[in-house]
Amino acid sequence: MTGRETAPRPLLNRRLAQFGTTIFAEMSALAARTGSINLGQGFPDTDGPEEVREAAVRALRDGRGNQYPPGPGVPELRTAVADHQRRFHGLDVDPDTEVLVTAGATEAVAAALLALVEPGDEVIALEPYYDSYAACIAMAGGVRVPVTLRPRDGSYHLDLDELRDAVTPRTRLLLLNTPHNPTGTVLGRDQLAAVAALAVERDLLVVTDEVYEHLVFEGEHLPLASFPGMRERTVTISSAGKTFAFTGWKVGWATGSRELVAAVRTAKQYLTFVSAGPFQYAVAEALRLPDAYFDGLRADLRRKRDLLADGLRAAGFGVYLPQGTYFVTADIRPLGATDGFAFCRTLPERAGVVAIPNAVFYDHQEAGAPFVRFAFCKKDDVLTEAADRLARMAP
Ligand SMILES: *Cc1c(COP(=O)(O)O)cnc(C)c1O
Repeated sequence: MTGRETAPRPLLNRRLAQFGTTIFAEMSALAARTGSINLGQGFPDTDGPEEVREAAVRALRDGRGNQYPPGPGVPELRTAVADHQRRFHGLDVDPDTEVLVTAGATEAVAAALLALVEPGDEVIALEPYYDSYAACIAMAGGVRVPVTLRPRDGSYHLDLDELRDAVTPRTRLLLLNTPHNPTGTVLGRDQLAAVAALAVERDLLVVTDEVYEHLVFEGEHLPLASFPGMRERTVTISSAGKTFAFTGWKVGWATGSRELVAAVRTAKQYLTFVSAGPFQYAVAEALRLPDAYFDGLRADLRRKRDLLADGLRAAGFGVYLPQGTYFVTADIRPLGATDGFAFCRTLPERAGVVAIPNAVFYDHQEAGAPFVRFAFCKKDDVLTEAADRLARMAP
């Protein structure tokens, strides 16, 4: 008997202790309770192309993919991914050894970090960052090092000096996201070239999340893997969710050198092993849709972006017009508010609209505090109604 009471050990381990329920759950519950328009979570309110949906039904009926598909993904999809990388980006990848199909981009990011990060390694991520990054870095035992994108002249910018200063001898990996959620920043050729040069100089691995590769309204999306010296050090990740408006299917992929893909596959095979069998065949067909589909998607979302952005400006917000993705970041300070959390918690009552406080995507809370994120991947009449409600917002 020591006579000393010890506190009961917490159930959740130390790596995950800081990750409670996501803000999306809280805000979606609030949307339901108040009958609000939910522009918080980023999923489309209409499904993708009918022929792609039919392709999934056909695969399911024909008994393709109803049993465990091959671990790296069905050959039809791996080939379609390789062809897509060549068609849109001029990248050559071998469908047999350099493509890995995953349970969405989320699993690809998780598997890449679990495979490539040693406990104690530093991982640089652009802040604000997609919410799964912090948790996956933590699960891998890595140390998160945020580099903050800075708002200036109506858009967000990567400061290359800040990035360079963040690299230490312990840095193993850069986790990039372009087009960037939530800021809508699309890294340009010069910036990507500088990032690539830094990665080569400091011998860093790079994981790039390019799920919005087809949602670029200004400029163009360039994969980092296409820059000199990057092919052998870059894992490129994308997914069908955003490009084809089937976020529930969770079909994603990673491409890279044979060695990198083999490493990611080692982790992936013990996470889900495989997933989404019949949907893999449907996504293989989707990736071969004519250019008109991709052009139409972009034009459609550009119109929605402008519709919501105009509405937000009319309601008095400061607006950061995104170059890509389907999110607008809005500054609440012109409305006399400074705390995005408090603003988003009362917005459903005041206006019947739900947004997400950008601070949830930051370590440096103060950098994100006065900004909120609205999704515009919604029907035009929903966006118009949301804008009307915001313009009539109670003080
Ligand atoms: C939506 C999103 C994902 C998740 O993609 P899934 O294919 O649904 O797993 C990953 N990264 C970013 C930046 C996203 O916005």
